[in-house]
Amino acid sequence: MSHRIVVSILTLSFTLAACSQEPGVASGPAAPEQAAELAPVYAAPSEQPVDPFTYANYRQIRVRHVDLDLDVLFDEKVLDGVAVLDLVYVDSDATVLVLDANDLDIKSVEANANGAWSAAPYTLGPDDPVKGSALEIELPDVATQVRITYRTSPEAEGLQWLSPEQTAGKEHPFLFSQFQPLYARTMAPLQDTPAVRITYSAKLKTPPELIAVMSSAQDPDGVRDGDYSFDMPQPIPAYLLALAVGDFGFKAINDHIGVYAEDYILDASAAEFEDTPKMEEAINDLYGPYKWGRYDMIVLPPSFPFGGMENPRLTFLTPTLIAGDKSLTNVVAHELAHSWSGNLVTNSNWRDAWLNEGFTSYVENRVMETLYGEDRAVMERSLDLDALKRDVAEAERPELTALKMPADIAHPDDAFSQVSYAGGMFFLKFLETRFGREAFDPFLRDYFDQFAFKSITTEDFLNYFESNLWANNQDAVTKEEIDAWVYQPGIPDTIETPSSDAFAKVSAQQMQWLAGEVAATDLKTAAWSTHEWLHFLNTVPDDMILDQFADLDGAYDLSNSKNAEIAFVWYMKAIASGYEPVLAPLDRFLMSVGRGKFIYRLYAALIEHGRREWAAEVFARARSGYHPIAQRRIEGIFAEAD
Ligand SMILES: [Zn+2]
Repeated sequence: MSHRIVVSILTLSFTLAACSQEPGVASGPAAPEQAAELAPVYAAPSEQPVDPFTYANYRQIRVRHVDLDLDVLFDEKVLDGVAVLDLVYVDSDATVLVLDANDLDIKSVEANANGAWSAAPYTLGPDDPVKGSALEIELPDVATQVRITYRTSPEAEGLQWLSPEQTAGKEHPFLFSQFQPLYARTMAPLQDTPAVRITYSAKLKTPPELIAVMSSAQDPDGVRDGDYSFDMPQPIPAYLLALAVGDFGFKAINDHIGVYAEDYILDASAAEFEDTPKMEEAINDLYGPYKWGRYDMIVLPPSFPFGGMENPRLTFLTPTLIAGDKSLTNVVAHELAHSWSGNLVTNSNWRDAWLNEGFTSYVENRVMETLYGEDRAVMERSLDLDALKRDVAEAERPELTALKMPADIAHPDDAFSQVSYAGGMFFLKFLETRFGREAFDPFLRDYFDQFAFKSITTEDFLNYFESNLWANNQDAVTKEEIDAWVYQPGIPDTIETPSSDAFAKVSAQQMQWLAGEVAATDLKTAAWSTHEWLHFLNTVPDDMILDQFADLDGAYDLSNSKNAEIAFVWYMKAIASGYEPVLAPLDRFLMSVGRGKFIYRLYAALIEHGRREWAAEVFARARSGYHPIAQRRIEGIFAEAD
C-alpha cells in the first residue's frame, strides 16, 4: 500500500529508453538550419521521451476517450462502476493494452471487437509505492474498446472523503479529487501520463441532496437530484480529470464565470474573486481567447492540500485564499493562466513541469501587473525570489535546481518546487527583458496557439524559441545564458533583482524598530498590504529575541492572524526562536488548515527545533482531517527526522 511512503528513501531506477536528449546536444534527425550564423542547438526530440511514472504502453495503443459511470458511495468511501475506454492503435500489431491502476479492485474486463463484447483476460501487476500496478489486458483482434468494472479503495490517494463533521455545514459529507501528478489511476484504470490526452464523459450517482461537479461542461443551474452527467469534449491529460461532490451553492460572477462553495463562504468567495473577469480579459489581450467555454471555481474544505488546482473549466481552490482584501488572488490568476500554460500546452513528462508552472507563474505576474499595477507585480516577484533562493538552498541535490529535472527523479513531486514556479517565471522574465515585450508577447501567444492541446518537452519549447524568437535577434541572448537557466543547477546571474520601493520603506521602518528607536505600536503599518507584511516578517533576523516577538504580537496579534500567509511566516519565525505563546494558535492552525505549502514546513520546523513530540501529538489529532497526499508527505517528514 502506498500510504506509509517516505519519499526520500524511494529508490527507483528508470530506464529512459528514448530519452537521449542531453543539454545542448542535438540528436535525432538534423533540423533544417534557420540561418547560416545560427545552427540549431535545441533540436526537438524526434519522438516524445517515455514517461517513467506510467506503465501505459501508449506508444502502441492510445486511449482517446474515457466514459465513466460511477456510484459515489459515501458509506463505504468508494466509487463503484464502469469505465469504457476507446482505443486507437499506434502499432497495429499490438495485442496487449497496459493501463495504470492504483488500489483499484478490478472485477471484470471486457473488450469490444466488431461490436461484440467478450471477456478479456487480464493481470494486475505488483504494487509499486509510487506507480501503483500495471493492468495488462489481452485484446482480441480489432478490439476498439475495453470495459472495466471496478471499485476504488477507501484509501485511494487521489480522493478525499470528508465526514459531515469535517465540513463547515456539518450536515453532509464531501468528496473531492486531486489527481496531479499521478493519482487519476486511483480513481479509474487509465493511461495516467501527461503525454496522453483524452476526452471524457461521465455519469455520477450521488445521494440526491448533494451536488456533483467535474472538470467539464456542466450547468450551474442544473437540478439537484443525485444524477449528474458530464461531457469534456476537449482532450486533456488524465491528471486534469476532477470531481467534487457535496452540499455547496453557486454564485455567478458574470455570464460564464462563477464560484461554487459551501454556504458559509459563498458570498465571501464571490466577492474575493470578483476581479476574475478582468484577469481573463488581461490574458485574452496578451495571449488570445480563452478556449474552454465556462470558467468556474470551487472553494473546497480546508483540507484541500494545495492553493489551487487548475482543473479545466473548474479551478479547485483552498479557502485560505479568502483573506477579505483580495490580497491572495494571485492564485486565481495563476490557476486561470493554466488554461493556456499547462492545460492547453502541457508538459509531456514531469521532468518538464516548469513548462506548466514557470509559464503559468509568468502569466500570473503579468496579470497582476495589468490589474493592480507594477508595484504589486514587483512585490510578488520579490517574494518569489526569496522563496526560490530558499528552495535552491534546501534542494536535496543540485540537479533539482535546474529547470529541466534529471531523468531519475524519485517522484513527480520533486519537480514542483519553486525552481519550476519562480525559476521558470524568472527565466521568461529574462527573455522578456532581452527581447522586449513587443517581440516576446506575440511570440508567447503564437507558442500557445502552435502547441494548443499538445503535450511537449523542454526541447520542443527551446527549438520553437530558437526558430521563432532567437533567430530574429541573435544577439539578445547567448547559448551559455540559456543553458545556465535550463540545464545548469543554481540561480543564474542573469536573474532580475526585483526592486520594490514599498519594500524598501518597510525595511527602513524595520531597521528603526530592530534598533529600538520605535516601538512596534509606532510602526506605520496601517496601509501595509499582505505583501508588505510578508516582506517585514520574512526579513526580520533569525535570532530575534523573545521580547521582540512579544512586542510585535502584542501590537498586531500576529499569532492569531486570519491571513494564512502572514500567520505561516510568523509561525515559522516563532518556532525557530522558541516563542512559546505561538503554540496554542499554531495548534488551531494545524488542526484547521490542510494546505501542504504551510503544514509541511511547519511540521518540519517543529521537528527541527526540538518540538517533535508536540508536533507528533498535534499530527495524531489532525491527521484524519488531512488529505491522503498530505498524510503521506507528513509521515515522510517525521520518518526522515528519525
Ligand atoms: Zn500551477
